[in-house]
Amino acid sequence: MKVEALLSEQLGNGAVRCGTCQRRCTIEPGDEGWCKTRRNEDGKLYSLIYGEVSSASVNPIEKKPVLHFHPGSRWLSLGSVGCNFRCPGCQNWKLSHWTRGSTSTRFLSPEDSVTAAKASGCIGLSWTFNEPTIWFEYTLDAAKAAKRAGLHTNYVTNGSITPEALATIAPYLDVFRVDIKGFSADTYERIGNVAEAASILETISQAKTHGMHVELVTNIIPRFNDSANELRSIATWIKDNLGPETPWHVTRFYPHLQLAHLPPTPIADLEAARTIGTEAGLWYVYVGNVPGHPWENTYCHSCGELLIERRALDILANRVEGGRCPTCGERIPGTFE
Ligand code: SF4
Repeated sequence: MKVEALLSEQLGNGAVRCGTCQRRCTIEPGDEGWCKTRRNEDGKLYSLIYGEVSSASVNPIEKKPVLHFHPGSRWLSLGSVGCNFRCPGCQNWKLSHWTRGSTSTRFLSPEDSVTAAKASGCIGLSWTFNEPTIWFEYTLDAAKAAKRAGLHTNYVTNGSITPEALATIAPYLDVFRVDIKGFSADTYERIGNVAEAASILETISQAKTHGMHVELVTNIIPRFNDSANELRSIATWIKDNLGPETPWHVTRFYPHLQLAHLPPTPIADLEAARTIGTEAGLWYVYVGNVPGHPWENTYCHSCGELLIERRALDILANRVEGGRCPTCGERIPGTFE
Protein backbone atom coordinates (compact mmCIF):
# COMPACT_ATOMS: atom_id res chain seq x y z
CA MET A 1 0.00 0.00 0.00
CA LYS A 2 1.22 3.49 -0.80
CA VAL A 3 1.23 6.19 1.90
CA GLU A 4 2.78 9.62 2.06
CA ALA A 5 6.16 9.54 3.80
CA LEU A 6 6.31 11.05 7.26
CA LEU A 7 9.78 12.54 7.05
CA SER A 8 10.75 14.50 3.96
CA GLU A 9 11.83 17.97 2.97
CA GLN A 10 10.95 19.97 -0.14
CA LEU A 11 14.06 21.12 -2.01
CA GLY A 12 12.47 23.18 -4.77
CA ASN A 13 11.80 22.24 -8.41
CA GLY A 14 9.80 19.27 -7.11
CA ALA A 15 12.76 17.44 -5.59
CA VAL A 16 12.48 16.05 -2.06
CA ARG A 17 14.98 14.83 0.50
CA CYS A 18 13.98 11.72 2.45
CA GLY A 19 14.55 11.97 6.22
CA THR A 20 14.01 8.32 7.10
CA CYS A 21 17.46 6.77 7.00
CA GLN A 22 20.94 8.19 7.05
CA ARG A 23 21.32 8.13 3.27
CA ARG A 24 18.98 11.14 3.15
CA CYS A 25 18.38 10.58 -0.56
CA THR A 26 17.59 13.54 -2.78
CA ILE A 27 14.83 12.28 -5.07
CA GLU A 28 13.71 14.01 -8.24
CA PRO A 29 10.06 13.82 -9.40
CA GLY A 30 9.33 10.35 -10.80
CA ASP A 31 12.43 8.83 -9.19
CA GLU A 32 12.88 6.41 -6.31
CA GLY A 33 15.29 6.51 -3.40
CA TRP A 34 18.28 4.19 -3.02
CA CYS A 35 16.10 1.57 -1.28
CA LYS A 36 13.59 1.56 -4.19
CA THR A 37 10.72 1.58 -1.69
CA ARG A 38 10.13 5.38 -1.71
CA ARG A 39 9.10 7.41 -4.72
CA ASN A 40 8.71 11.09 -5.47
CA GLU A 41 5.36 11.58 -7.19
CA ASP A 42 4.66 15.17 -8.25
CA GLY A 43 6.87 16.58 -5.50
CA LYS A 44 5.55 14.39 -2.69
CA LEU A 45 7.44 11.44 -1.21
CA TYR A 46 5.60 8.15 -0.77
CA SER A 47 6.41 4.85 0.91
CA LEU A 48 5.38 2.07 -1.46
CA ILE A 49 5.46 -0.82 1.04
CA TYR A 50 3.20 0.21 3.94
CA GLY A 51 1.92 -3.04 5.49
CA GLU A 52 3.41 -5.17 2.69
CA VAL A 53 4.57 -8.28 4.57
CA SER A 54 6.91 -10.68 2.80
CA SER A 55 7.62 -12.94 5.83
CA ALA A 56 5.84 -13.67 9.07
CA SER A 57 6.76 -16.24 11.70
CA VAL A 58 6.55 -16.87 15.42
CA ASN A 59 9.96 -17.31 17.07
CA PRO A 60 11.56 -17.17 20.48
CA ILE A 61 13.33 -13.87 21.07
CA GLU A 62 16.62 -15.80 21.11
CA LYS A 63 16.37 -15.96 17.31
CA LYS A 64 17.00 -12.17 16.93
CA PRO A 65 19.37 -12.78 18.88
CA VAL A 66 18.23 -11.04 22.07
CA LEU A 67 19.17 -12.87 25.27
CA HIS A 68 18.55 -10.37 28.08
CA PHE A 69 14.90 -9.42 27.50
CA HIS A 70 12.25 -11.91 28.58
CA PRO A 71 14.25 -15.07 27.68
CA GLY A 72 12.20 -17.79 26.04
CA SER A 73 9.31 -15.50 25.11
CA ARG A 74 7.48 -15.82 21.79
CA TRP A 75 7.42 -12.94 19.32
CA LEU A 76 5.71 -12.39 16.00
CA SER A 77 8.43 -11.52 13.49
CA LEU A 78 7.47 -9.53 10.40
CA GLY A 79 9.51 -8.41 7.42
CA SER A 80 8.85 -6.54 4.21
CA VAL A 81 11.12 -6.00 1.20
CA GLY A 82 14.01 -3.69 0.39
CA CYS A 83 17.01 -2.38 2.29
CA ASN A 84 19.13 0.73 2.61
CA PHE A 85 22.37 -1.32 2.72
CA ARG A 86 21.96 -4.42 0.48
CA CYS A 87 25.05 -6.09 1.95
CA PRO A 88 26.92 -8.34 -0.51
CA GLY A 89 26.80 -11.26 1.95
CA CYS A 90 23.26 -10.78 3.31
CA GLN A 91 21.63 -13.97 4.54
CA ASN A 92 18.19 -12.53 3.71
CA TRP A 93 19.27 -11.31 0.29
CA LYS A 94 16.04 -12.41 -1.43
CA LEU A 95 14.24 -9.73 0.59
CA SER A 96 16.95 -7.10 0.99
CA HIS A 97 18.12 -7.21 -2.65
CA TRP A 98 14.53 -7.20 -3.79
CA THR A 99 13.52 -5.76 -7.11
CA ARG A 100 9.92 -5.01 -7.99
CA GLY A 101 8.01 -8.22 -8.54
CA SER A 102 10.80 -10.53 -7.31
CA THR A 103 9.04 -11.32 -4.01
CA SER A 104 5.34 -11.44 -3.31
CA THR A 105 3.86 -9.63 -0.30
CA ARG A 106 0.48 -9.51 1.38
CA PHE A 107 -1.08 -6.62 3.24
CA LEU A 108 -1.35 -6.86 7.03
CA SER A 109 -2.67 -3.81 8.86
CA PRO A 110 -0.97 -2.68 12.09
CA GLU A 111 -4.04 -3.73 14.08
CA ASP A 112 -4.14 -7.15 12.42
CA SER A 113 -0.47 -7.70 13.21
CA VAL A 114 -1.24 -7.10 16.89
CA THR A 115 -4.23 -9.45 16.74
CA ALA A 116 -2.09 -12.13 15.10
CA ALA A 117 0.63 -11.73 17.74
CA LYS A 118 -1.82 -12.08 20.59
CA ALA A 119 -3.60 -15.03 18.98
CA SER A 120 -0.30 -16.91 18.73
CA GLY A 121 0.69 -16.30 22.34
CA CYS A 122 3.39 -13.72 21.59
CA ILE A 123 4.47 -11.01 24.01
CA GLY A 124 5.76 -8.75 21.27
CA LEU A 125 6.19 -7.70 17.66
CA SER A 126 9.60 -7.80 16.03
CA TRP A 127 10.40 -6.16 12.69
CA THR A 128 13.20 -8.13 11.13
CA PHE A 129 14.22 -10.06 7.96
CA ASN A 130 14.69 -6.77 6.08
CA GLU A 131 15.64 -3.36 7.48
CA PRO A 132 12.69 -2.13 9.60
CA THR A 133 13.52 1.54 8.97
CA ILE A 134 12.62 0.96 5.32
CA TRP A 135 8.93 0.62 6.19
CA PHE A 136 9.13 3.22 8.92
CA GLU A 137 5.55 4.54 8.63
CA TYR A 138 4.13 1.03 9.03
CA THR A 139 6.40 -0.03 11.91
CA LEU A 140 5.57 3.22 13.70
CA ASP A 141 1.81 2.63 13.42
CA ALA A 142 2.21 -1.04 14.37
CA ALA A 143 4.43 -0.13 17.34
CA LYS A 144 1.78 2.30 18.58
CA ALA A 145 -0.91 -0.37 18.17
CA ALA A 146 1.30 -2.89 19.99
CA LYS A 147 1.80 -0.55 22.93
CA ARG A 148 -1.96 0.09 23.16
CA ALA A 149 -2.44 -3.68 23.35
CA GLY A 150 0.28 -4.20 26.00
CA LEU A 151 2.80 -5.86 23.66
CA HIS A 152 6.54 -5.28 23.48
CA THR A 153 8.31 -4.13 20.31
CA ASN A 154 11.70 -4.79 18.74
CA TYR A 155 13.69 -3.41 15.80
CA VAL A 156 16.32 -5.75 14.32
CA THR A 157 18.25 -3.09 12.48
CA ASN A 158 21.47 -1.99 10.83
CA GLY A 159 21.21 1.29 12.76
CA SER A 160 20.93 3.58 9.74
CA ILE A 161 17.99 5.66 10.87
CA THR A 162 17.93 9.45 11.20
CA PRO A 163 17.82 11.02 14.66
CA GLU A 164 14.37 12.47 13.90
CA ALA A 165 12.98 9.07 12.82
CA LEU A 166 14.47 7.38 15.87
CA ALA A 167 13.06 10.04 18.19
CA THR A 168 9.62 9.60 16.56
CA ILE A 169 9.44 5.85 17.12
CA ALA A 170 11.47 5.67 20.34
CA PRO A 171 8.50 6.09 22.73
CA TYR A 172 6.99 2.91 21.23
CA LEU A 173 10.13 0.78 20.88
CA ASP A 174 11.42 -1.44 23.69
CA VAL A 175 14.32 -3.31 22.10
CA PHE A 176 16.95 -2.14 19.62
CA ARG A 177 18.90 -5.15 18.33
CA VAL A 178 21.46 -3.52 16.16
CA ASP A 179 24.46 -4.60 14.10
CA ILE A 180 27.91 -3.12 14.47
CA LYS A 181 29.44 -4.30 11.24
CA GLY A 182 32.80 -2.66 11.79
CA PHE A 183 34.57 0.28 13.32
CA SER A 184 35.62 2.18 10.20
CA ALA A 185 33.89 3.75 7.23
CA ASP A 186 35.98 1.49 5.01
CA THR A 187 34.68 -1.69 6.66
CA TYR A 188 31.10 -0.42 6.44
CA GLU A 189 31.55 0.34 2.77
CA ARG A 190 32.86 -3.15 2.03
CA ILE A 191 30.24 -4.96 4.12
CA GLY A 192 27.25 -2.63 3.94
CA ASN A 193 27.59 -0.37 0.88
CA VAL A 194 27.70 2.72 3.08
CA ALA A 195 30.92 4.54 3.94
CA GLU A 196 29.86 5.51 7.44
CA ALA A 197 30.52 4.14 10.92
CA ALA A 198 30.38 7.14 13.24
CA SER A 199 26.73 7.98 12.57
CA ILE A 200 25.68 4.35 13.17
CA LEU A 201 27.47 4.33 16.50
CA GLU A 202 25.86 7.65 17.39
CA THR A 203 22.44 6.15 16.62
CA ILE A 204 23.13 3.25 18.97
CA SER A 205 24.03 5.67 21.75
CA GLN A 206 20.81 7.59 21.06
CA ALA A 207 18.74 4.39 21.29
CA LYS A 208 20.23 3.75 24.72
CA THR A 209 19.55 7.36 25.75
CA HIS A 210 15.94 6.93 24.61
CA GLY A 211 15.69 4.09 27.14
CA MET A 212 15.63 1.09 24.81
CA HIS A 213 17.11 -2.26 25.72
CA VAL A 214 20.10 -2.52 23.35
CA GLU A 215 21.86 -5.71 22.20
CA LEU A 216 24.57 -5.72 19.55
CA VAL A 217 25.65 -8.17 16.89
CA THR A 218 28.87 -8.32 14.92
CA ASN A 219 28.67 -10.98 12.27
CA ILE A 220 32.33 -11.82 11.80
CA ILE A 221 33.20 -12.15 8.12
CA PRO A 222 36.63 -13.61 7.32
CA ARG A 223 38.98 -11.00 5.85
CA PHE A 224 36.37 -8.22 6.22
CA ASN A 225 35.94 -7.37 9.90
CA ASP A 226 37.85 -10.10 11.75
CA SER A 227 41.03 -8.22 12.67
CA ALA A 228 41.84 -8.03 16.38
CA ASN A 229 42.19 -4.26 16.13
CA GLU A 230 38.74 -3.76 14.64
CA LEU A 231 37.06 -6.10 17.12
CA ARG A 232 38.90 -4.52 20.07
CA SER A 233 37.79 -1.07 18.91
CA ILE A 234 34.16 -2.22 18.74
CA ALA A 235 34.26 -3.86 22.17
CA THR A 236 35.94 -0.87 23.79
CA TRP A 237 33.45 1.51 22.22
CA ILE A 238 30.55 -0.57 23.58
CA LYS A 239 31.97 -0.59 27.09
CA ASP A 240 32.79 3.12 27.12
CA ASN A 241 29.57 4.35 25.48
CA LEU A 242 26.85 1.85 26.39
CA GLY A 243 28.27 0.22 29.50
CA PRO A 244 29.95 -3.13 30.28
CA GLU A 245 26.55 -4.77 30.87
CA THR A 246 25.56 -4.43 27.18
CA PRO A 247 25.33 -7.85 25.49
CA TRP A 248 27.54 -8.26 22.40
CA HIS A 249 26.97 -11.23 20.09
CA VAL A 250 29.85 -12.29 17.86
CA THR A 251 28.18 -14.50 15.30
CA ARG A 252 29.30 -16.97 12.70
CA PHE A 253 29.09 -15.83 9.09
CA TYR A 254 27.83 -18.33 6.53
CA PRO A 255 28.65 -17.58 2.89
CA HIS A 256 25.92 -16.09 0.70
CA LEU A 257 25.54 -14.26 -2.56
CA GLN A 258 28.58 -12.17 -3.58
CA LEU A 259 30.54 -13.48 -0.57
CA ALA A 260 29.79 -17.12 -1.37
CA HIS A 261 33.49 -17.73 -2.03
CA LEU A 262 34.41 -17.09 1.62
CA PRO A 263 34.54 -19.85 4.25
CA PRO A 264 32.23 -19.83 7.29
CA THR A 265 33.88 -18.06 10.21
CA PRO A 266 36.24 -20.49 11.98
CA ILE A 267 34.92 -21.20 15.47
CA ALA A 268 38.36 -20.42 16.91
CA ASP A 269 38.05 -16.89 15.50
CA LEU A 270 34.70 -16.42 17.25
CA GLU A 271 36.22 -17.62 20.51
CA ALA A 272 39.12 -15.19 20.02
CA ALA A 273 36.61 -12.38 19.41
CA ARG A 274 34.84 -13.30 22.62
CA THR A 275 38.13 -13.12 24.50
CA ILE A 276 38.77 -9.68 23.00
CA GLY A 277 35.34 -8.56 24.22
CA THR A 278 35.77 -9.82 27.76
CA GLU A 279 39.32 -8.43 27.97
CA ALA A 280 37.88 -5.06 26.91
CA GLY A 281 35.62 -5.27 29.95
CA LEU A 282 32.30 -6.48 28.55
CA TRP A 283 30.34 -8.75 30.88
CA TYR A 284 28.21 -10.62 28.35
CA VAL A 285 29.83 -11.63 25.07
CA TYR A 286 28.03 -14.44 23.27
CA VAL A 287 29.16 -16.73 20.46
CA GLY A 288 26.26 -17.02 18.00
CA ASN A 289 25.27 -19.33 15.14
CA VAL A 290 27.22 -22.22 16.71
CA PRO A 291 24.56 -24.45 18.33
CA GLY A 292 25.80 -26.17 21.46
CA HIS A 293 28.74 -23.84 22.03
CA PRO A 294 29.25 -23.10 25.76
CA TRP A 295 29.34 -19.35 25.09
CA GLU A 296 25.66 -19.47 24.07
CA ASN A 297 24.99 -19.69 27.82
CA THR A 298 24.59 -16.81 30.25
CA TYR A 299 27.02 -16.76 33.19
CA CYS A 300 26.75 -14.31 36.09
CA HIS A 301 29.18 -11.45 35.52
CA SER A 302 29.87 -11.30 39.23
CA CYS A 303 30.44 -14.91 40.36
CA GLY A 304 30.48 -16.88 37.07
CA GLU A 305 27.48 -19.07 37.95
CA LEU A 306 25.80 -20.70 34.95
CA LEU A 307 22.46 -18.88 34.86
CA ILE A 308 20.80 -19.73 31.54
CA GLU A 309 21.75 -22.87 29.69
CA ARG A 310 20.91 -22.85 25.98
CA ARG A 311 21.13 -24.95 22.90
CA ALA A 312 20.50 -22.83 19.81
CA LEU A 313 17.04 -21.33 20.35
CA ASP A 314 16.08 -23.62 23.25
CA ILE A 315 16.50 -22.78 26.92
CA LEU A 316 17.48 -25.94 28.80
CA ALA A 317 17.57 -24.29 32.23
CA ASN A 318 16.98 -20.77 33.58
CA ARG A 319 18.22 -20.21 37.11
CA VAL A 320 17.75 -16.44 37.27
CA GLU A 321 15.52 -15.64 40.26
CA GLY A 322 13.74 -12.29 40.40
CA GLY A 323 16.30 -10.87 37.98
CA ARG A 324 19.19 -11.92 40.22
CA CYS A 325 21.86 -14.59 40.37
CA PRO A 326 20.71 -17.24 42.86
CA THR A 327 24.29 -17.81 44.06
CA CYS A 328 25.68 -14.32 44.72
CA GLY A 329 22.48 -12.23 44.53
CA GLU A 330 23.86 -9.87 41.86
CA ARG A 331 21.24 -8.20 39.64
CA ILE A 332 21.57 -9.47 36.08
CA PRO A 333 21.28 -6.68 33.49
CA GLY A 334 18.15 -6.95 31.37
CA THR A 335 14.55 -8.02 31.96
CA PHE A 336 14.18 -11.59 33.20
CA GLU A 337 10.73 -11.66 34.79
S1 SF4 B 1 14.69 5.27 3.35
FE1 SF4 B 1 16.88 5.77 3.09
S2 SF4 B 1 17.48 4.74 1.18
FE2 SF4 B 1 15.22 4.86 1.19
S3 SF4 B 1 14.72 6.77 0.13
FE3 SF4 B 1 14.82 7.27 2.31
S4 SF4 B 1 16.94 7.97 2.65
FE4 SF4 B 1 16.91 6.87 0.66
